[in-house]
Amino acid sequence: MHTHAIPDTIAHELLAIADAAPLLVFLFDGDDRLRYANDAFRSSFALAPDAFPSWSELMTHCHTEKVGALINTPDFPTWLASARSRRGKSPYRAFEADLCDGRWVWITETLRADGWMLCIGSDITDLKASGRALRQSRDLAIRAAQTDALTGISNRPHMTAQLEQRLAQVRQRSQMCGIALIDLDEFKCINDRYGHPSGDLVLQHFARTVQQALRHEDGFGRVGGEEFLLLLPRIDTAGMEAIIRRIMALLRDASPLPAHPEFRFTFSAGLGVLLPHDTPSTAYSRVDKAMYQAKAAGRNGFRWAQA
Ligand code: GH3
Ligand code: MG
Ligand code: MG
Repeated sequence: MHTHAIPDTIAHELLAIADAAPLLVFLFDGDDRLRYANDAFRSSFALAPDAFPSWSELMTHCHTEKVGALINTPDFPTWLASARSRRGKSPYRAFEADLCDGRWVWITETLRADGWMLCIGSDITDLKASGRALRQSRDLAIRAAQTDALTGISNRPHMTAQLEQRLAQVRQRSQMCGIALIDLDEFKCINDRYGHPSGDLVLQHFARTVQQALRHEDGFGRVGGEEFLLLLPRIDTAGMEAIIRRIMALLRDASPLPAHPEFRFTFSAGLGVLLPHDTPSTAYSRVDKAMYQAKAAGRNGFRWAQA
């Protein structure tokens, strides 16, 4: 959409229509913070007129207050990590969702080139319920196939699929996309010293920490035991380094093992940029090599891959 083609008066009228519409109309910015929501959305989600939560805060609000979206899970943190890792990965997405008040809505998410996401929910409660259970189990099966069970984030096949998509974009639109491979440092020692279940806690903690530093378009998955891949579109090299440093800073302040509050861990990363002639495996081995250089240089740092 070319916003300059719409006179301000009409844009205001459109907003007024959206405000009063029975549809749920809501808009997130690139950092996944709610920037606009109409009255229908605010009343369905029990949100005050001046509340502009991040998407994660909104889902937490739904889960704890039992309002808005119905979230049916015995493990909310893993659900949140998993749902977050699927957001903003394609220009358009549509799905069915339950609301806590019993309504059933059809939600479309349209991702703009600048990273903002326009969402519209329409009430489909009265549509034929036949096929709904089938569609729901199909959606759950697709999700499970894309998700790493321990952390809830994307698994390796899903990251490879995202990498293929990003490479296609790099070729077609010459849109830049960064790639980073992260490997936790001395992870064997963590397992040996604190036990395997504690190692699992560290992996879960790491996945959630990284998500706090990402935008919704960023791809993030677990591609090996303690190896993680990041795909960062529309960002420059300084922005990529800023994200890696932010994650390092978050880890310095975090205490992932409740029984050992003093425990900290680090990682080493290889950073690179997707090139038009790359395949998933050439891109991956480039950042893998850079990651090993970061290990050789003493760990707890990153290295750029040579193009
Ligand atoms: P480096 O700094 O060189 O990366 O050292 P490292 O000990 O992390 O090296 P390496 O990659 O050889 O070890 C990874 C360890 O991660 C080995 C494996 O036991 C452990 N691991 C892999 N998957 C899991 C998991 O799901 N849970 C736990 N707790 N440990 C895992
Ligand atoms: Mg490893
Ligand atoms: Mg390691």
